[in-house]
Amino acid sequence: MLERLEELERQALTELEGITDEAGLNAWRVKYLGRSAELGVILAGLRELSKEDRPAVGRRANEVKLNLESTLQTRVEALRVAALERSLQEERLDVSLPGRKPILGRIHPANQTLRQIYNIWAEMGFQIYLSREVETDDFNFGLLNMPEHHPARDMWDTFHTTATGVLLRTHTSPGQIHVMRERAPEPIRVILPGMCYRYEQSSTRAEIQFNQVEGLAVGHHITFADLKGTLNAFARRMFGEHVRTRFRAAHFPFTEPSAEMDIECFICEGKGCSVCRRSGWLEILGCGMVHPIVLRNGGYDPTVFTGFAFGMGPERITMLKHGIDDIRYFWGNDLRFLEQF
Ligand SMILES: [Zn+2]
Repeated sequence: MLERLEELERQALTELEGITDEAGLNAWRVKYLGRSAELGVILAGLRELSKEDRPAVGRRANEVKLNLESTLQTRVEALRVAALERSLQEERLDVSLPGRKPILGRIHPANQTLRQIYNIWAEMGFQIYLSREVETDDFNFGLLNMPEHHPARDMWDTFHTTATGVLLRTHTSPGQIHVMRERAPEPIRVILPGMCYRYEQSSTRAEIQFNQVEGLAVGHHITFADLKGTLNAFARRMFGEHVRTRFRAAHFPFTEPSAEMDIECFICEGKGCSVCRRSGWLEILGCGMVHPIVLRNGGYDPTVFTGFAFGMGPERITMLKHGIDDIRYFWGNDLRFLEQF
């Protein structure tokens, strides 16, 4: 019996050395230490042995059992360490490798110009007033001194909705009526930026959607001189301290008198180039004194209040500044264009 125990121990230990995975270890445990393993059977059958044999066999059997258990434990530990070592090797990270640079977005060129315009007017005490892009015929035309069948309505082709008298605004001017009705009889100094829509054939110079920045000042003693002074100050901040401006008479239904402001071409400095069409001047914005009818429609008494208004196109200004020759690039979402800004 003692010899059998010796042999069993040797066999078990030899087998254990060759095992390299968990499944093998489990099978080994069942085979040598399990309930029905030979060693277990020997231990269970001790009391059937003779009194002389029992102590020696019992002691030896227990020794073998303890030895097998502790060797198994050591083996389990060793395999665990090896597995950890292996996974550390396989999943090793090289922290010295350079990182992958995330692709940075850019601010859209039209928004860059818009932000510049906002900053300048904010510094001059103008608030930003946002109004809706879907308007009624009345706000877009009628209240701005363009009653039905007024010829000036032909200046802009309009996107009409299926609802009668509801349209996409063709300019930001309807915001003038909204802000006046909200603030009257308080003085007003606001800019009204936003998207406008026109039902036009899109071309290098015209798009069906574009931004506009409208400006409106209403108060007690506002004159055309205030209009000129304010817009000259804007031009100097926007285009450079020494930029020259000129005002040309124009006609808009909602201002009287009306003018267009040109700035000296900043590309050729007035000498004449292809951008300014050899004239040395660039048309930048339209402006004028708010028409008395518009003031009244906004809730101001035109015998007491006066005001000026102006409107400019940020995309046009951006095109002039960067020599962009096609307005359709702005909404084409072509990264090759957008990444240049
Ligand atoms: Zn020029």
